[in-house]
Amino acid sequence: MASEIELVEVTKRYPGVATPAVESVSLTVPAGETVVLVGPSGCGKTTTMRMINRLIEPTSGRITIDGRDTRSLDPDRLRRGIGYAIQQAGLFPHLTVGQNVGAVPRLLGWSRTRVAERVDGMLDLVGLDPAAFRDRYPRQLSGGQQQRVGVARALAADPPVLLMDEPFGAVDPITRGNLQDELLRLQAELRKTIVFVTHDFDEAVKVGDRIAVLGPRSAVLQYDTPEAILANPADETVAGFVGAGASLKQLRLRRVREVELGRALTASVDDEPAEVGRRLAEAGRAHALLLDARERPVSWVRAADPRQRRPVGGSVTLQSTLQDALEAILTEGGTAVVTGARGEYVGVVEMDAVIDTVRKLRDDRAEVTR
Ligand code: ADP
Repeated sequence: MASEIELVEVTKRYPGVATPAVESVSLTVPAGETVVLVGPSGCGKTTTMRMINRLIEPTSGRITIDGRDTRSLDPDRLRRGIGYAIQQAGLFPHLTVGQNVGAVPRLLGWSRTRVAERVDGMLDLVGLDPAAFRDRYPRQLSGGQQQRVGVARALAADPPVLLMDEPFGAVDPITRGNLQDELLRLQAELRKTIVFVTHDFDEAVKVGDRIAVLGPRSAVLQYDTPEAILANPADETVAGFVGAGASLKQLRLRRVREVELGRALTASVDDEPAEVGRRLAEAGRAHALLLDARERPVSWVRAADPRQRRPVGGSVTLQSTLQDALEAILTEGGTAVVTGARGEYVGVVEMDAVIDTVRKLRDDRAEVTR
């Protein structure tokens, strides 16, 4: 269950402030997608997001959810249908984890047993053992655990829409990475409509199906997929925001299937070492890859000593990111083996191929910008 959200020329003026905090913003958030609002501090992200659940009332313009004008709905009822997760989780300190997660379902009048079942289900979903956590208080949890509870609470009443305002902003980078992974896993299953606010472009690239890059007064500078924004920033400001790390970010977005695969010289694990050595010499190659009866890569041998076998440490698939491939290339000593669905050998990726691919993407981008 998901809903489309549409903002039409939405403006917010705070009383006594000359310039609007948000000026005439129009944006459509497709049902079931994660849209990230990203931009510098003070550009109006939070104001824009909070107008969706009417924690802040727009001065003018229109916001609809599945075509219904939010002004036609009672604000409390509207908010119960929209999950909301914020930085530092915003849990009620005097309520237990279970009471926090069950808060909205209780407000909606669910029975005690249904609330209790839901609480345990939600804690499970966000990776917390219900028996260990449901009766604890928020202060007895780590920052990362509190954020998980915050997400569980936001999802408890199964709302079609989820608003997340810098939800992982207050935790260390490793925990943040784990929470982002978790959100991606959850979203693959739940397909909610999520509006996610962050000032961190890397986070936007990781969690967003689409990114709205915002400038002053929430002006939409570019609204597109992460891939399109990285490859082709709309203007200098967006390019500056995308940053100098763009080539590295490409490694996380691009897949092995986009790289021209190399061919290793292959032989069977049952072949005589002398025979493999002869074939290597004939082909003028330094290494051969030995495959088992089901074509799965087993070990490498060198022309210099075909008797000495070095096991294949790890392999990547056509769906792996170039970052994974690079990791494998570095640990495997220069060549990563690519395998198919049944683990069978399909090719190899070498450092040069990765460099060529990233360079080509950068050149294509320069071409478009010119
Ligand atoms: P962001 O989330 O991008 O950091 P905000 O939406 O919080 O930006 O703020 C946008 C602008 O509106 C800022 O200049 C901020 O100072 C101003 N602002 C936010 N809340 C209020 C308020 N209650 N009264 C007056 N100005 C506000």
